[in-house]
Amino acid sequence: MAKIAFLGLGQMGTPMAARLLQVGHELTVWNRTRAKAEALVEQGAAAAASPGDAVSGADFIVTMLANPTALEQVLFADDGVVGALSPGQWLIDMSTVGPDTIRSVGRRLPDQVTLVDAPVRGSVPEATTGRLAIFVGATPTAFKHVEPLLAPLGTPHRVGGPGAGAAAKLVANLVVGVAITALGEALALGETLGLDRTTVLDVLTETPIGSTVKIKRPNIESGNYPPSFKLRHALKDLRLVTETADGKNLELTAAARDWLEQAAADGAADLDVSAVVATILAAVPGVEGANPHTAAR
Ligand code: NAP
Repeated sequence: MAKIAFLGLGQMGTPMAARLLQVGHELTVWNRTRAKAEALVEQGAAAAASPGDAVSGADFIVTMLANPTALEQVLFADDGVVGALSPGQWLIDMSTVGPDTIRSVGRRLPDQVTLVDAPVRGSVPEATTGRLAIFVGATPTAFKHVEPLLAPLGTPHRVGGPGAGAAAKLVANLVVGVAITALGEALALGETLGLDRTTVLDVLTETPIGSTVKIKRPNIESGNYPPSFKLRHALKDLRLVTETADGKNLELTAAARDWLEQAAADGAADLDVSAVVATILAAVPGVEGANPHTAAR
């Protein structure tokens, strides 16, 4: 069993760290908001006072943080990870931060510390039950080394060399963003054409966005959007896509990003990504649901 420092105990990090504990690894955890470490300490983890403290003696350091800024701060602040790293340690970033950030971090690590990017597809239920798809960017040798550690979290796939995992995750989340906004626009069209919302949801269940409809339908029907995948993270992902050199001509992505920007401006950033549907419906004249997010909270 390995010694692991796990940094970032949000909605995803907490159940992922719990699974690593459950299979017998020795965990030291750190989170910016310390109270979120308490449940894991009760399950047997040690809590560190800073990211640097967490790293000492660890074989692997796993980060599961909100965005590139959070990763940068946790790694490179005065009490951060990088100042405390020793040769032979492995840094596995599982956040969605995009390949540019991964490459930048990789350039600034000490010699003999290996960086692996391993972002995930799936949400809180999959993180809790160990059914995440894990996109790993690593050499074949590095992949062999990290695969057993990642296996309790889901299914690791090596998608290419360093940075490829982060790239694959952006590709996947382009589709997530486009699908949820397509769902909103399809519902808006249905209602403009006088169709009943339940009927439209039934019809959409049989389309290529059917899996999105099935997962998000309870939120849409109840008008409540408790976060599983926060809208702010989906927006961050589409910003990362459109900020990459190859992302500038992705017109569907840009349109989806605009809807998410609008929903965030409406106050839905910390609701589930599906809250964008309420923003889209409210934008259609005559469709019920003005000020959706003030009503949803
Ligand atoms: P979350 O619940 O919002 O948690 C974010 C984590 O980042 C928390 O531990 C937070 O600390 C920390 N953080 C934020 N800003 C920070 C900063 N400046 N310095 C230090 N720590 C900071 O997010 P999540 O849902 O767990 O997602 C984590 C990552 O996985 C994101 O990149 C997300 O895009 C990706 N992801 C999420 C899902 C999903 O369904 N939720 C699925 C796949 C991938 P505090 O607790 O102190 O705020």
